[in-house]
This record gives sequence, structure tokens and C-alpha cells, in this order.
Amino acid sequence: MITSAVHTLATELTGDDLPAYVYDLPALRAHARAVRDALPPGLELYYAAKANPAPPVLRTLAPHVTGYEVASGGEVEHVRAAVPGAPLAFGGPGKTEGELRRALTLGVERFHVESEQELRLLAGAAEDARIDAVDVLLRVNVPLASDELGGAALAMGGRPSPFGLDPEAVQRCLPLLSGAGSHGPLRLRGIHAHLASGLDAAAQLTVAAAIADWARKLSERHGLDDLTEVNVGGGMGVDYAHPDRRFDWAAYGKGMADLALRHPGRTLRIEPGRALTVYCGWYVTEVLDIKHSGGEAFAVLRGGTHHIRTPATKQHDQPFQVLPMDTTATWTRPWARPAVREEPVTLVGQLCTPKDVLARRVQVPELRAGDRVAFAMAGAYAWNISHHDFLMHPRPGFHYLDT
Ligand SMILES: *Cc1c(COP(=O)(O)O)cnc(C)c1O
Repeated sequence: MITSAVHTLATELTGDDLPAYVYDLPALRAHARAVRDALPPGLELYYAAKANPAPPVLRTLAPHVTGYEVASGGEVEHVRAAVPGAPLAFGGPGKTEGELRRALTLGVERFHVESEQELRLLAGAAEDARIDAVDVLLRVNVPLASDELGGAALAMGGRPSPFGLDPEAVQRCLPLLSGAGSHGPLRLRGIHAHLASGLDAAAQLTVAAAIADWARKLSERHGLDDLTEVNVGGGMGVDYAHPDRRFDWAAYGKGMADLALRHPGRTLRIEPGRALTVYCGWYVTEVLDIKHSGGEAFAVLRGGTHHIRTPATKQHDQPFQVLPMDTTATWTRPWARPAVREEPVTLVGQLCTPKDVLARRVQVPELRAGDRVAFAMAGAYAWNISHHDFLMHPRPGFHYLDT
């Protein structure tokens, strides 16, 4: 599971160099290339930067993606600087007037507008900046039949939602968009929807078809000839319990090619985050102590959920691999090395909260103080969603391997 480059570094770092995030950029590159190759050539692939906006990650993806989806003024600035010239689509709720102005100044290519007020703010900002053409996609809560979302972890469409516009609200926006009524600066280029996350390929295809059909009907009903883009969002599922069962990009690509044939003249676009970068990162640390309480074994690790909040937010066991450290230098203390063998162990961090759990009651052949643990699937929604400052422990090291 762990790549050899990551393994080598993980065992070479000293205890004080840990915890460390180690990213395998060649592995990321290979994965991104495979994803791109599985998709039909006309389909546009944007990377949702919020999954992991580290500049080496953004840059490694650059040759394989069409652009980046950004969801704040901070991400607009950051991604523009990290990958200058790459097309940006600016989405996300609660965009401020200042953020919209700045995004216009920076020439953001697409705006995913989430509300009628936001559309008005954007129009005003564009007029003030004397920009006469701004490309807009309306983010819509496309209604889905109740069974269409199946196993979605986080359903966001077809039900009450703070995101996007309900279909009725779309009607009210049309008069503000050129091609649909207005002569103002905003051009309605397409429909955007991000309805759920954690979907497998079949469910994603069902949702994509529903969004594309909805967009077509809207465009036909109102004669919107410029509405040529359909962004069906991200949310491609990843399975933390089975890291090698990856999203079926081949089946998805085939289905999207069929969908494109049914929608000639329209550009289809996706914007996955997690499924692109989750596999390329590891959070490596060491076992500080092993103890028993109430008949259960606990391994206390250096670091914790303030560095990798993923298992706490998703309530899962973060997959990991034990890297046994057998050199005599590892254990020089004059007492017996704390250890567990052939029993379930709960891996916790250094925080003074019972929520600081990385994996619960996982059976391991052996785990000893001084051994290393490499948590896999730490390349997305890991460091950047964590509460780093809680308890003031040192930050991890960051290593972007690229050889
Ligand atoms: C978060 C987000 C994504 C990416 O979702 P993943 O589950 O990481 O693929 C894409 N689009 C929007 C609008 C998002 O909010």
C-alpha cells in the first residue's frame, strides 16, 4: 500500500522530525494521468482546490486538469499565484462583494453563482470595473428522484440546502443575465450542480444525466443558446475502509462519453477534489506509548487529529500501516518496550480530548513504542481541515517527494 519512496523517508526521519506529511507526487501524477485518460477528451476536468491546495499538489495536477474550482477569495489568490494562467471557476456560498471585485480584477474565468443577491452583487461589481462580459454558471439544486442519490454520504441537492438556487429561484435570475433578458455584463454560460459526495460511478452517472437533462430543458424553455456548459460537480467516492477499491473512472468515463453524445454542443465538466488527491498523502508518526485501560489497548501517537482531522470528522478509522522500527537505536531505554501483540488497539493522538482518535480497535500483529505508523489516504481534507493550534503542539513537517 505505502509507496517505497514514502516508506524510505518515513523510516529515515528522526522521531523529532515527526509527525510528517509525506506526499508522493509521482504517484499523484500517475493517478491524475490515469483519471484524465479514462475520461472522454471533450470532458473538462477541474480540480476542487479545497481538497488540498498545497502548491506542489496544484502544480503536479496542472498538466492533467483543465482548471481549478476555488471556493473563496483566499483560494482565488492562492491558486492564481500557484498555477498562473490556469482557468479558475469561483464557487462557494457567501461570496463577499470584496471577493467578487478581486476575482474580477484577477480575471477569474467562471463564476458559479449561488443566489440572486450574489448575481446582483457580481453585476454591480462588473459594471463598476467596466468589465462587459462575465461568464456565469448558476449553481442549481437540481431536483433528483428520491432513489437517485442512493448511498450519498453528504446529499446536497433536491432537498433544503444553503447551497445554490432552487429551480424557482433560477427563473428569477434569468432577467439579470444577458442572452436571457438583460443587456448587462453577466452572460449565462451554463448550469453548475454539486449534489452529493461519496457516490460511486453508477450513481455519479445518474446524477450527471439528471443535471444535463435539467440544463437542456431550461435552455430549450427559455431559448438560452449560450447555455453550453454543464458542470456536474465533484464528490466521486473514495473508500477509506478499502483504500485499493478506487472510484471506477473507466466506467464513469464511458458513461460520460455516452452522456456527451446525448448532449451535442454542450461541454460537460466535473470538479472532483478528494478522489484526485486523497491517495497521494501519508501522515507519518511514531508510537510514543502503549497502555491498557479497562481491558483495552491504546497506542498514544505523536501528533493527532489537530493535524489530521479526517477520522474525527468522518467518524472512520483512518487506514494505516505499521512500520516496525527494529534498529537498536530505536529503543535505548532501560525498561521494557511497551507493546501490544495480536490484539485490537485504539490509536490516539496527544490531545486532551476523547475525540482525538485516529483508528479504533484495529487488530495489529504487533505495535511497540518507537514503531512508526503511516496513515494512508491523507492527501485530501486532512491537514487543511484540521485545528492546528489546539494545544500548541508543533506542526508536522511537510515533504513533497518528486524523484
Ligand atoms: C467540495 C466541492 C467539490 C469537491 O468535492 P469532492 O468530494 O472533494 O470531490 C466540488 N464542487 C463543489 C462545489 C464543492 O463544494
